[in-house]
Amino acid sequence: MSFDESQIERYARHIILQEVGGPGQAKLLASSVLVVGAGGLGSPLLLYLAAAGVGRLGIVDDDRVSLSNLQRQVIHNNDALGTAKVDSAERAIAAINPDVEVVTHKERLTAENAMDLVSAYDVVADGSDNFATRFLVNDACYLAQRTLVSAAILRFDGQLSTFKAHAGEGHPCYRCIFREPPPPGLIPSCAEGGILGAIAGSMGSLQTTEVLKELLGIGDSLSGTLIIYDALSATFRNVRVKPDPSCPLCGENPTITDLTSHNASARESCAVT
Ligand code: ZN
Repeated sequence: MSFDESQIERYARHIILQEVGGPGQAKLLASSVLVVGAGGLGSPLLLYLAAAGVGRLGIVDDDRVSLSNLQRQVIHNNDALGTAKVDSAERAIAAINPDVEVVTHKERLTAENAMDLVSAYDVVADGSDNFATRFLVNDACYLAQRTLVSAAILRFDGQLSTFKAHAGEGHPCYRCIFREPPPPGLIPSCAEGGILGAIAGSMGSLQTTEVLKELLGIGDSLSGTLIIYDALSATFRNVRVKPDPSCPLCGENPTITDLTSHNASARESCAVT
């Protein structure tokens, strides 16, 4: 693929990087990423993936922009209050980079649509805020053989890892670490527990970097490592995580072979903010 003059200028700081270069930038322009949730993590994900020139960005979110979102969901603004988050995000992306095609999915991720949605993209970035969606995304990505970069934030803390158990030995899935969703109410949501807005920016930016590394095939994959960020003590911990042979999804005797276990009751709690 050849670049026009404006693309050479737009992507000059990428092209000059030996690890990216022209071929890497062309790869990004030919790549696609599905972002689950256009909220706190989804905002930096979408803004930086768009600026980086990832050619096709899918956004799944059925929510509308509300005033309490704007403390951290920086892709949206006052003018977007009350409008669909996918439409607000699409407008912001169009204003940043006309090279990027945006595909809006104004719906919740469900057991019924997850396989089709996930399969239509190269890499999936989970920016959802609830366990039901996180497990659904993990299972769908494994079954569709898609790499998943997953982050989560709460209060002053964040965590991040990459999951590609389909790639073979040594790669855990999310269920290898967190077997099942915790009982409802055990872990507070951001609405209940609060979140320092900038944490969404920190973790979402790290998550975007890992997505770009996976698309480009450069550096060390975060698969097998869980990053735990404690903002109050300003520390990062890298925890090694291994595949679990007894994992019900990617283990030796899997009991999860499709998405039917993600039933309607789980779906009802899948609101993405
Ligand atoms: Zn597993």
